[in-house]
Amino acid sequence: MSQVELALQKAQSECSRSGLRLTDKRSNVLRILLQADEPLSAYDIAEHYRCDIGKPLSAMSAYRMLDFLLQAGLAHKLETTNQYVACSHITCEHEHQVPQFLICDRCHAVKEVGIRKQLLNELKASIENTGFVLSSQQLELHGICEHCQEKTEHGPN
Ligand SMILES: [Zn+2]
Ligand SMILES: [Zn+2]
Ligand SMILES: [Zn+2]
Repeated sequence: MSQVELALQKAQSECSRSGLRLTDKRSNVLRILLQADEPLSAYDIAEHYRCDIGKPLSAMSAYRMLDFLLQAGLAHKLETTNQYVACSHITCEHEHQVPQFLICDRCHAVKEVGIRKQLLNELKASIENTGFVLSSQQLELHGICEHCQEKTEHGPN
């Protein structure tokens, strides 16, 4: 079974265990996110839905499906770019940490990393010391991924 199918199956069983309904539409949107190799906007998703699933989906319904996936912890929203990614820990058994995202500015790949609770608390404390109140603990860090660094080292091809 492919990683995508495995994740979809796990998502389905997790949802029914918590009394949520992963309808076909919601599951299709999750599939699109799982298959994408970069984060997608709601409009990208509506477009993929038309092409890949062969049915129309308005951006409005895409937002509704995405809201469900966010609530269910199956997807994450990148606040800095207003795009969405599938959670990379759907098939994992461990507890989900506050997700942090490393975003490659060249290929737009996103890596989801967990951050140690202690480090996060220290960061939070030092921010709150300045009188700033955080509305989200999610970090989105931009840079160049390992893959793109390698490409640069070997020169342009
Ligand atoms: Zn996640
Ligand atoms: Zn994991
Ligand atoms: Zn890259």
